[in-house]
Amino acid sequence: MGGTPPVAGLTSGDDSPGASAQSEVNSMTLTPDFLDGNAAAGDLESLFGTDMTMASGRCRGCGEQMMLAQTHAYLGGPGMVLRCPGCDSVLLRLVRSPTQMWLDAGGLDYVKIPTPA
Ligand SMILES: [Zn+2]
Repeated sequence: MGGTPPVAGLTSGDDSPGASAQSEVNSMTLTPDFLDGNAAAGDLESLFGTDMTMASGRCRGCGEQMMLAQTHAYLGGPGMVLRCPGCDSVLLRLVRSPTQMWLDAGGLDYVKIPTPA
């Protein structure tokens, strides 16, 4: 009679691309380590083929609508992260590898991109 020990720590699979690009944000630092969304404009423009600083979107977290240029861009990680200036949730992640580009815009309800006339 041997009881099997309880199995602990089983985690379900996480197949999201950049796994934990999550925050190691150290709020002790005085200078903010983010730039504004314009810093991400180059990468986004190469992806969408248009000036994305003129695009706007709505945060899924707090419902605020904003221009992408107004978001907070974190470029220090393996990719680029745009966060909501209102509630600080992740709006968009863009990770570039030598062979592909990952785009996760799951934090945005929608993105509105102005089309040239
Ligand atoms: Zn928000």
